[in-house]
Amino acid sequence: MCRLQHTDITLIIMQLNQCKCTVWSSGPAVRGPVVELCAVLPQVTRILKKAEDERTEEEARTLLRHPSAVEQVRGRSVRSGQQRRRREEVCDGVEELRTKVSQLAAAVRCAQHLVVYTGAGISTAASIPDYRGPNGVWTQLQKGQAVSSSDLGRAEPTLTHMCIKALHQQNLVKHVVSQNCDGLHLRSGLPQHALSELHGNMLIEVCASCIPAREYVRMFDVTERTALRRHATGRRCGRCGAELRDTIVHFGERGTLEQPLNWSGAAAAAGSADLILCLGSSLKVLKKYACLWSMNRPAKRRPLLFIVNLQWTPKDDLATLKINGRCDEVMELLMEELDLQIPPYNKAEDPIFHQATPLRPEEELSHTRCLIAPPAGQEDQPPDAQGSAPDAQGHAPPAPQPVQGGWFGRGFSKGRKRKKRKTV
Ligand SMILES: [Zn+2]
Repeated sequence: MCRLQHTDITLIIMQLNQCKCTVWSSGPAVRGPVVELCAVLPQVTRILKKAEDERTEEEARTLLRHPSAVEQVRGRSVRSGQQRRRREEVCDGVEELRTKVSQLAAAVRCAQHLVVYTGAGISTAASIPDYRGPNGVWTQLQKGQAVSSSDLGRAEPTLTHMCIKALHQQNLVKHVVSQNCDGLHLRSGLPQHALSELHGNMLIEVCASCIPAREYVRMFDVTERTALRRHATGRRCGRCGAELRDTIVHFGERGTLEQPLNWSGAAAAAGSADLILCLGSSLKVLKKYACLWSMNRPAKRRPLLFIVNLQWTPKDDLATLKINGRCDEVMELLMEELDLQIPPYNKAEDPIFHQATPLRPEEELSHTRCLIAPPAGQEDQPPDAQGSAPDAQGHAPPAPQPVQGGWFGRGFSKGRKRKKRKTV
């Protein structure tokens, strides 16, 4: 029987991992050594877990007989250690954080065109789960756990949202590019023209048949029936009667809607940027959008890059400065350094309450999500079909239901199933 060298086996394994194709059809000459290697890996793994002086002579000989397996196991161990470290949340100490934020403040003062990129980490203070944090949506779904959270409609803009809105008002921030679908940037008062919601907005449904597309802002998450390649929300356009669709770019999709995604605004802002501030994003998705990173410019003419995130990001090595801190904490310090007031979120000024289109009477039961509770004194407008506030008799509102479908959840699991089928 033809026997391959260990280096050949390593190559085969590498190809197996890279191509995700099967090697078993390559014939017995290849199958034998690969089977042998696979059989010995658990044994080698077990031996390598022991301290060197605890291994028996026979175990030491086994390691010498199988250098490729040893290399494989050590390689895996290095990679999994690296991945574990990348998932860890790291916080800079108080002094280090202050020093870094004063560097950020100096950069903000000097910038001509500051663009802010935001991710789920800026909304965690609003009880919206992030994606890749230890308890994030993505992390839980990867582990096969069901996702549940308090209703997303109950969230309100965080201190970071309000700081960004204030910085834009001061003309220090020119544009905001967000991966978040929670609608909190708009609810903070940031104007829509200064915002690109690259993955959509859970509070907006649109009629794509009207020209230009007609937006309907709602007081609730419109996505409970939508999922990957299934965007119909179950309601119809008040003008032309066509089906309304959500604006969400579900996992596995490419966004095509002009608004609220506003890709042209994002690309123009990135093209003019001399400073990019990334807040609360793992950047694992954003890094794939080449137009956001000015990589076509010579390295010296690229924008300065400041990253605020607790976990590693793939852009850390390119960053001018990485700040390991919570967004709210960093933004509070930044506003202090810039001598600017942080406007508190005031529900009465939340633009959603005058932007939202009320449901027609026949649509009142077209969703089961809680409405965003109106400001005190305005409880009777708009009607609260699901009772997210106490009713006239003072009965407590029903307990929030776990969110199983919608802009995360179903879309994600469908994406995973499709991916799995493709690679089998
Ligand atoms: Zn229409």
